[in-house]
Amino acid sequence: MGADVVTMEKIVSLSKRRGFVFPSSEIYGGLGSSYDYGHYGVLLKDNVKARWLEAMVRERDDIVALDSSIILHPRVWEASGHVGGFSDPLVDCRTCKRRFRADHLDVEQCGRRPSKRPGETDECDLTDARQFNLMFETRVGALEESGVDVYLRPETAQGIFVNFKNVAQIARRRPPFGIAQVGKSFRNEITPGNFIFRTLEFEQMEMEYFVPPPEADEWYRYWVDERLGWHRRYGVRDSHLRLRPHDADELSHYSSATSDIEYLFPIGWSELEGIANRGDFDLRQHSEASGTTLEWVDAGTGERYVPYVIEPALGVNRSMLTFMIDAYDEEVVGERERTVLRLHPQLAPVKAAVLPLIGKDAAMVEKARALYEELRRHFSVEYDDGGAIGRRYRRQDEIGTPYGLTIDEQTLEDETITVRDRDSLAQERIPIGGARAKVGELLGADWRSPKS
Ligand code: ATP
Repeated sequence: MGADVVTMEKIVSLSKRRGFVFPSSEIYGGLGSSYDYGHYGVLLKDNVKARWLEAMVRERDDIVALDSSIILHPRVWEASGHVGGFSDPLVDCRTCKRRFRADHLDVEQCGRRPSKRPGETDECDLTDARQFNLMFETRVGALEESGVDVYLRPETAQGIFVNFKNVAQIARRRPPFGIAQVGKSFRNEITPGNFIFRTLEFEQMEMEYFVPPPEADEWYRYWVDERLGWHRRYGVRDSHLRLRPHDADELSHYSSATSDIEYLFPIGWSELEGIANRGDFDLRQHSEASGTTLEWVDAGTGERYVPYVIEPALGVNRSMLTFMIDAYDEEVVGERERTVLRLHPQLAPVKAAVLPLIGKDAAMVEKARALYEELRRHFSVEYDDGGAIGRRYRRQDEIGTPYGLTIDEQTLEDETITVRDRDSLAQERIPIGGARAKVGELLGADWRSPKS
């Protein structure tokens, strides 16, 4: 298993070949930085979201869920600072006509000479940096003249802040408590690329944790640890994760502390998730702009204050990409090369494949189909009887299916099947009647990436 063989090209190619991710609008030539998710992509993405919601909401008493609108009142984005300040500094090169983020020049490639950075050759002719707002604008209303300009949300967080009062009253929770949301966000990214790492539309999993101000530092450290633990729990190797606290000059004006959880992507160390102490900035801004006081009032003591907010914010698509990259492996088994996604079983799109050893054997097919019908009521499983068994295993390895259940000659004699482990390739014989319990037990067991 050893060295990292993964490249972004291999992930893009596997994603297309096996139907995880397709370039969007492909028959029209594609639209830059937009992707569509196929069957396994949807299942994997759903599992990422389910594991996040489990850790953030289901397994805790102090966090509730919310699903706010993508299009909010336009004044939300004025108050939040996005209309005035949610922009990237861009420079254009008059020679190669390429556009770069001014703050990324040290990692970008010159359009003419890719071994150089923009501005490094005599030919480069860069403009001054100009600010470019990242929010997509659209109009609400039937008539062009009477419509209202609105924005597609560039983050889910503001929908949480503007609902603070609703939730705090109804959820009957006192700080520290949190509100979690999963949903689409949109950013008119100017220098996108790198597959689904940075796209125009993406899903975010954000949680705003409202705390008494004196406890903010403590909760910030708590959430950094919790979030690192989540990535590790689902198999991301420690050697490929690191924490990067922002320098003082990099912090947003409202934040007293921010850290990025970075992953060693094939493009280098890059942000996977951000955790920020946002202070009371957001609630104060919306209180002032809306005229509705957003604060915590203790019904018993009458004590009132504006809570501070700790925010862990993670992209679903970026997290899915991380899991795929981290899980990707190639190895030679019995002189045959195989590609395998060593995904955590709880993330794997398909948990088990039910395979008759000989696809043309009516008795094996009948038994396999009956087992498949039983298991599909409980797990995401697949039945496959097409082609040689080796090829069927390899297909399942590539989509990361952790267990293969094979019905063979012996099954017809003694009602046992083999369970094949994707990673160790070990085979165990178990009674066919115990298959459901076995898969359940395997899925519930502790798991570590065999690549670590
Ligand atoms: P970056 O520096 O990569 O642009 P950011 O610091 O602007 O990211 P945040 O606003 O903190 O990102 O968003 C939280 C998370 O949302 C990011 O850590 C990332 O996982 C995800 N994310 C942000 N922008 C995109 C995008 N354009 N495409 C995919 N995921 C994104």
